[in-house]
Amino acid sequence: MGGGRPTIPLRDTFGRVADDLRISVTDRCNFRCVYCMPAAGMAWLPRDEILSFEEIVKLTRILVEECGVRTIRFTGGEPLVRKGLEDLIALVRDIDPGLDLAMTTNGILLGEKAQALRDAGLRRLNVSLDTLHSDRFRTMARRDGLARVLDGLRAARAAGFDPIKLNMVVMRGHNEDEVVDFARLARTEGYEVRFIEFMPLDADGIWKPETVVASREIIEAIDREYPLQPVLSERPAPATRFRFRDGSQGGIGVIASVSDAFCKVCNRIRLTAEGHIRTCLFSLQEHDVKALLRGGAPDAEIRDFVVAAVWQKEEGHKIGAADFVRPEKSMSQIGG
Ligand code: SAM
Ligand code: SF4
Repeated sequence: MGGGRPTIPLRDTFGRVADDLRISVTDRCNFRCVYCMPAAGMAWLPRDEILSFEEIVKLTRILVEECGVRTIRFTGGEPLVRKGLEDLIALVRDIDPGLDLAMTTNGILLGEKAQALRDAGLRRLNVSLDTLHSDRFRTMARRDGLARVLDGLRAARAAGFDPIKLNMVVMRGHNEDEVVDFARLARTEGYEVRFIEFMPLDADGIWKPETVVASREIIEAIDREYPLQPVLSERPAPATRFRFRDGSQGGIGVIASVSDAFCKVCNRIRLTAEGHIRTCLFSLQEHDVKALLRGGAPDAEIRDFVVAAVWQKEEGHKIGAADFVRPEKSMSQIGG
């Protein structure tokens, strides 16, 4: 790695080091989830504003070889609507076959894509699923698709993804009554279910503190039905994980992004589909690295630009504080 040169870690002024890069490969999506996108009227980025595979690979190579990035997660928008995503994954794997390559997807195209993704080197998969009722699915995703997502999950399992994580955004008044059902699904299918607190990054502005179901409440509800045992993790992580006390397969985790934010241990940075570095989901500014990539800047200049951007990483989000300012972009434009 790095031709033997020492790496320059992506350090910020609060002592954190970013080694987890989330790459948004598109701002487009085939769903319109209520907590993310508007029902209609989303303005897509023009195609030539989106980073090409070559540009993504070039930047990723610099950050892996020169800055010690180890985990790459492909996201979006819906990453699987980007044509040939498996080719991009294979190119990134070839930078360093030891990289931890992951993807977050809504799962609707997994039936067709799971095997190709696995063959390209993808190792970890998070599939977003918020309900097990098709009518509710239609309300939350504003599209039909529960049966196809469940087929996609089976295809992912058949392709060798194990464990598979499910991401459930829990919203009061929508699906909080299903958390125990999801815990049961974790047990029967062996999934790791991640319950995510609803964050104020929805396009419609429906977020209110009352719509957040705190992780503690979720854990208590599940623990009453299926007693839980905390899993101690080697290093601080966004998800607090639990296994089932009775030894069942599967597990659960909660991501308390609102009620108990993990900002203090955040090791993530994001590359948006349009080629901007974003140091926090809640950043109010981005750093345009595409201009350097397209302007033919040398690798060292690109590296130093990202190092300087991460140095300015925010201490944390301020949800609930008087001076909290919502970012203009919503989740699908940021790359969740
Ligand atoms: N389209 C893919 C998907 O849905 O999995 C990837 C992109 S999506 C923006 C990434 C993750 O962010 C998903 O798990 C989604 O549920 C989550 N998400 C979107 N909006 C959110 C919000 N307002 N609060 C919490 N999580 C959110
Ligand atoms: Fe699309 Fe994912 Fe946003 Fe849902 S959460 S609208 S699937 S980007």
